[in-house]
Amino acid sequence: MASTACIFCKIVKGEIPSFKLFENDKVFAFLDIQPLSRGHALVIPKFHGAKLTDIPDEDLREILPVAKKLAQVSGAENFNILQNNGRIAHQVVDHVHFHMIPKPNETEGLGVGWPTQ
Ligand code: 5GP
Repeated sequence: MASTACIFCKIVKGEIPSFKLFENDKVFAFLDIQPLSRGHALVIPKFHGAKLTDIPDEDLREILPVAKKLAQVSGAENFNILQNNGRIAHQVVDHVHFHMIPKPNETEGLGVGWPTQ
């Protein structure tokens, strides 16, 4: 179920442009517009829900394997997976999203073919 006002639902529908990294029937992944590091990606369920507790398990269980794959493809040995719920917990966009933030060290590049915007 999509929300007409939600920016991430608009990204999924292609109404707002994004740098898409992955898509299947339940999951969409794209580069963060204000990356905290090179390669900072967002992995979201297509199902619209503001918080983790709003998302059906069958949609949620598709997310982490995609985040894991993106982390692998990024080539970064160090990375963060973050997911914020609610303003006090620093959630800004009210559509569940998992951040995959590569933390390449100074000698480590991102994976061959990893896109930058
Ligand atoms: P939050 O603080 O809600 O966990 O993180 C929201 C993230 O969404 C931020 O890192 C922000 O840069 C990203 N973001 C917000 N609007 C857009 C957008 O229109 N396009 C993309 N690609 N990322 C966005």
